[in-house]
Amino acid sequence: MGRVPEPLRLTLGANNIYLLRDGSDALLVDAGPDYAGAWEALIAQLGQHGITPADVRQVVLTHYHRDHAGLAARWQAEGARIIGGRDDAPQLLHQPADRQLLRERAAAVLAHNGVAREQAWWSIPAREGAGDHRAADGHGAWPGQLRITPLAPDVLVDGGDCITLGGRLLTVTACPGHTPGSILLQDERGGDVFTGDHLLPQQVATVGIQFRDGERWPSMPPFVRSLEQTRALAGRRALPGHGEPVADTGDAASWSLRYIERRLTRIQRRLAGGPATAYEIVQALFPRHQPEHLVTLMTEVIGLLDLLHERGQARTVDDEPPLQWAST
Ligand SMILES: [Zn+2]
Repeated sequence: MGRVPEPLRLTLGANNIYLLRDGSDALLVDAGPDYAGAWEALIAQLGQHGITPADVRQVVLTHYHRDHAGLAARWQAEGARIIGGRDDAPQLLHQPADRQLLRERAAAVLAHNGVAREQAWWSIPAREGAGDHRAADGHGAWPGQLRITPLAPDVLVDGGDCITLGGRLLTVTACPGHTPGSILLQDERGGDVFTGDHLLPQQVATVGIQFRDGERWPSMPPFVRSLEQTRALAGRRALPGHGEPVADTGDAASWSLRYIERRLTRIQRRLAGGPATAYEIVQALFPRHQPEHLVTLMTEVIGLLDLLHERGQARTVDDEPPLQWAST
């Protein structure tokens, strides 16, 4: 047996797409974002490695966000088998009207948590329109407006499932949080872990304001449990959906968990001074934040309050909206 070929990192705008090969049989981790010229740019990069679109037989989506799954429908039309986490399947089918409805619901959540209604409406469309969850955070940019064509993956996977490429085995780990159906892929021969947006270099992934079956889905508690699970992957290199490889997946997970615990402590200190809305907590913790960061900060604080609530360390005050939180 020869040396295990390294995964090759291709980039489109702010996104990484990984190419794994077994002879001329190719697998991609993430489909890539779709914007004007993206497909041609990706084909050109594959061509530099001697891969044609027909060689790409499998495309595994780490999660449904459009910067990762934008080109999935195009790959499916080219004959590739699209593989995705089971709990992200509904979002991959979303039509523009569904996404508009989710924006409205997210704005309503912000208003319920103390953001002025006009500001809530203004914040969400601005960042969604700019390209999903990232552009407003300053983490990335793409050469054009991101778009996505709804699709049904050919294969839906759960934690423990395996995806094969020749003699190579990729094991799926479910890591709900960043999205309900986010998955990690462990390359059993190379040792690498494809982490999507669950683990990113020197930043804690955003958990977003998310919905499942029409209800808000508190994503921070499962995200923390997923990170706790990821700590076990010590010594393995992480290949994230954005940015450079991370030397140790386990260390990166521990770093994220420590960050979250520090933020929890700050919120608990604020609540010790009396009840507050999530918006008031954001103002207290980040008094000098830029208006375009409000959604990200609100999302984080709402998520951390969900976590304190689950741990029995915070409770909601039964009163008129906006929603107030207090220490237990
Ligand atoms: Zn994402």
